[in-house]
Order: sequence, then C-alpha cells, then structure tokens
Amino acid sequence: MKYFLGWLLLTALPAAQAHEVRQLGAHVHGQAHVDMAVDRGAVELELTAPGIGVLDYERPPANDGERVALQRALALLREGRWLTLPSAAQCTPVRADAHADGFQPADKAMSSGAHAHAGFRASLAYQCANPLALRVVVVTLPSLFPGLHEVIVNTATGAGQGRSIVTPDEMRVVLAP
Ligand SMILES: [Zn+2]
Repeated sequence: MKYFLGWLLLTALPAAQAHEVRQLGAHVHGQAHVDMAVDRGAVELELTAPGIGVLDYERPPANDGERVALQRALALLREGRWLTLPSAAQCTPVRADAHADGFQPADKAMSSGAHAHAGFRASLAYQCANPLALRVVVVTLPSLFPGLHEVIVNTATGAGQGRSIVTPDEMRVVLAP
C-alpha cells in the first residue's frame, strides 16, 4: 500500500524531476528502511529499499548490464550480505529472502511518460545461541550499494525501541551500550 501511494504521488511529477532524490512518503530515492526486532535469541529484519539507490533505475532492465545488476542486487539481499552480526552471538540463519517489485515489463504503472516506482524488499531471520553478545550489528547496505546514502534502522529489543541512521561513514547499529 505504501508503495502504491508513492507511485500515485510520483505520477504527478514531471518525468525529469522524478529521478532526483525527493521525499515521497515512504519512498525516498537513496534511502532504505530496516525494521529490526530482537526477542531473546530471535533476530528478525525487514528491509525496504528504493530501486534508485540499490540500482540507478526503476523500470524493467533495458540491457544486459542492467539485468546483471538487478540479479546481483537480489542475490546480495537474498544471501543476507547486508547484515553482519557479532560472531560471539553464535547466530544461525533461519530465513533469508528478497523480492524486486516493479522491474517487470508487465508490472503496473508502465504507462508512457509516468515514472513507475520500483524497489526491493528483503527479510532475514536468525536464531542466536548467545543473545547477550548482540550489542552492535553492522548494516553494510551503503558499502554494497553506494547509491544508498542513508538507511533508517528502527530497532525493538528487550531494552526498548531505538532508531539509528546508517550512512557510509557509520554502518554500526548499537542495540545495547
Ligand atoms: Zn522511486
């Protein structure tokens, strides 16, 4: 639903402006969101990221290079390469998944002249044998995808809720000081 509202807003913009970084409800080019929950040893993350940021386009791939970039991005997200957990926490993956939305020619919003919105969703789940060691995690999205200049990470742990801004200069998220 958030995705659809963002698309509605975008279609009202001149196409030349639509590729710039701009505030569009939940979808800002170059900015990703992560919701992270830690419940004892159970760690879950949900990622939403705009196409422009992970890639540099939000439409069906136009050539082989763009197709390769899309598949590479999906693989990196699906393999959970965007998160580093402390080894002392002894976490094992339970689930890892990733989807691309809006990059298929049949997807909605492909009418001529309109900027079609596209992006990625990914989820990760781990079970950690030593959750006390889950003090700092590293969200490596800005190093994997240099177009992502900011990742807003909302955390919910036994100690409460927090919000961190991950940037290329600071990819750590402190869960417990
Ligand atoms: Zn967009």
